Amino acid sequence: MHLSRFPRLHFAHLPTPLEPMPRLSEALGGPNLWIKRDDCTGLSTGGNKTRKLEFLMADAQQNKADTIITQGATQSNHARQTTAAAAKLGMECHVLLEEQIDSQDDSYVYGGNVLLDRLHGSTISRRPGGSDMDAAMEELAQQLRDDGKTPYIIPSGGSNEIGALGYVNAAIELMTQANDRSLRIDHLVHATSSAGTQAGLVLGMEGMNSGIPVYGVGVNLPKAKQEEKVYNLAQRTAEFMGLNPDIVQREKVVANCDYVGEGYGLPTDSMVEAVKLMAQYEGILLDPVYTGKGFAGLVDLIRKGHFKKGENVVFLHTGGSVALFGYPNAFGLPANV
Ligand SMILES: *Cc1c(COP(=O)(O)O)cnc(C)c1O
Repeated sequence: MHLSRFPRLHFAHLPTPLEPMPRLSEALGGPNLWIKRDDCTGLSTGGNKTRKLEFLMADAQQNKADTIITQGATQSNHARQTTAAAAKLGMECHVLLEEQIDSQDDSYVYGGNVLLDRLHGSTISRRPGGSDMDAAMEELAQQLRDDGKTPYIIPSGGSNEIGALGYVNAAIELMTQANDRSLRIDHLVHATSSAGTQAGLVLGMEGMNSGIPVYGVGVNLPKAKQEEKVYNLAQRTAEFMGLNPDIVQREKVVANCDYVGEGYGLPTDSMVEAVKLMAQYEGILLDPVYTGKGFAGLVDLIRKGHFKKGENVVFLHTGGSVALFGYPNAFGLPANV
């Protein structure tokens, strides 16, 4: 787990805080809940992509890139953090936004993350839902090369074996925090999607023999596909690090995809409840697409007795609250107050 052998830039605010959530723990009457604040990584309101970008942007610089290309859904937190990192490093940034949700709502189409993408000076272009986004990025890269630029493509969510190093690092950081304060972590729970976060965490936790199970709550794919995606990336990341891929056994990759609802980015009642619980018991903002559904899963599992009283459960807050401003009408709040 020797990450210093890989190129890395340091722009995240690390270590992120690990905080108890006493009010919410009491209200739910289950395990002791903790929160790891990766919503506080510092870059353009923070989030989990910033850790990945420390390694990805270093690789881009090593490849002498002057232009970054990436893609995501309209309200992509990954796109926002990438545009901010590119701005900070003085690089041009092109973002392709896929219209995965059929929404004409101005808040969704122009607000939240899209507003920030534009403030950071990136060039945005939109593609219909279902487009081959990897092909679209390649096509744009070719155009930019023809113009004499040196583009660097960052895949969806920053999730490849380079980006996942950011979450191997997060696993080491969390273990150190737990050891420093003699906190026995029984479970680590987080929202999982493009897989880089969970792949890095599982590889880190298994590589350190931590005994801490990682529990992903899916927000997009069905269970079998989500787990396969995480497992494959964890194996590739181990190989990339020069480690034995068998460090990560298939059964250590767990994703519960029962909380997706109608689909990616579409609000659910349990998401709305989870966002309000966290906001009203701990003063912390979740988001409607990822952490709201991820935390909804944790709340439901607590109610079903999946986690025991006395256990310590850490919820990894992966950020995204900017997207709340893309969904102002999802929360059933009267408009005229
Ligand atoms: C991208 C994202 C996730 C999911 O992380 P992956 O590495 O893509 O699985 C979770 N929460 C938020 C807020 C995100 O932006």
